[in-house]
Amino acid sequence: MQVDDLSAATRHSEAAFASLRHFSLPPTPQNYAVWYEFHAERNAELRRLISIALSNRRVVDSYMMAELYDLFFADTPERQAAREAGATLREAAGRIREAGDDAARYGDTLNEVAGAIPGDGKGLAALVTRLSAETMALSARSKRLGDELQASGARITELESKLAAAQRASQTDALTTLPNRRAFDSMIVEHAGQAMNSGNDLSLLMIDIDHFKRVNDTWGHAVGDAVIRLVATTLAQHGPNHGRPARYGGEEFAMLLPSTPIGDAVGHAEKLRGALAGRRISLRGKNESIGNVTVSIGAARYEPGEPVAAWIDRADAALYRAKQQGRNRVVTLEAAEAG
Ligand code: GH3
Ligand code: MG
Ligand code: MG
Repeated sequence: MQVDDLSAATRHSEAAFASLRHFSLPPTPQNYAVWYEFHAERNAELRRLISIALSNRRVVDSYMMAELYDLFFADTPERQAAREAGATLREAAGRIREAGDDAARYGDTLNEVAGAIPGDGKGLAALVTRLSAETMALSARSKRLGDELQASGARITELESKLAAAQRASQTDALTTLPNRRAFDSMIVEHAGQAMNSGNDLSLLMIDIDHFKRVNDTWGHAVGDAVIRLVATTLAQHGPNHGRPARYGGEEFAMLLPSTPIGDAVGHAEKLRGALAGRRISLRGKNESIGNVTVSIGAARYEPGEPVAAWIDRADAALYRAKQQGRNRVVTLEAAEAG
């Protein structure tokens, strides 16, 4: 990591605290780290995400901070496991190097001995004794090395499966069990690449719960969480089989639709919107209903070759338009569909 000189660090630090005050965020180390990095202007992707949030409707609050921290700083189980695996591999490499040193030392002794064999045979016994001592020491060390390497091997196998499990966990959103933002970011690049190669259509839906803040404010964050889970389930159950839903962040979801022209994508989006809007949601165990939960959806078609960020921005702009037009609707800005 780059280290700033003192005056730059002081400047970034003051700016970070100013931002924390500006957004009424608690000055936790995590929140501070996000804003310090933002003001230090060295992480283009972090700056892009915050700038998007600042330039439109997104609320800058502790949820958003937690997401950014998780994306850019958090020591995920995956990173921990990778570090552990690296340490074990380095250890094993060190042992192998030691073994090489041992062999070299033994070779030196052999040469020495060969050079020192006296013509009259006197002192030969001493040399043989030394050689055999050297040989025994080497074989004892090799045996230990073998055992140690075997143990390292077993440990590496164990770490590999730990790493795989951590990788799965780091790609999954804990609240909804949908692929998380990290997973989505790699998924979308992969699908865009495939669409470029195959020439197949590829569409994207950006889905945002309407007036979700009200749900939190009226019913509390636990009910808010349950509503997020409900929307996630609806996407998984009412979306087309080939749809790839993900939790994009907060109360926002994304769905990739491979091999789907934009017109069909809008149709799928309309179905999802309707499935939610037609449902009255009541609180479990109580006779109370929280009414309807609706979503706004922006749809965009992938233009082969365009930067993925531009495509997401277009879906996001369509979503924003849907909000402006009154929410609970599907909008696309693509030419063929407009008008
Ligand atoms: P709009 O219709 O314009 O989308 O309004 P909104 O209220 O849905 O959107 P806004 O962006 O103003 O507020 C979204 C809120 O969602 C902000 C944040 O406090 C809350 N939130 C984000 N993540 C979570 C979460 O995991 N659980 C809960 N309960 N709330 C969350
Ligand atoms: Mg919303
Ligand atoms: Mg939102």
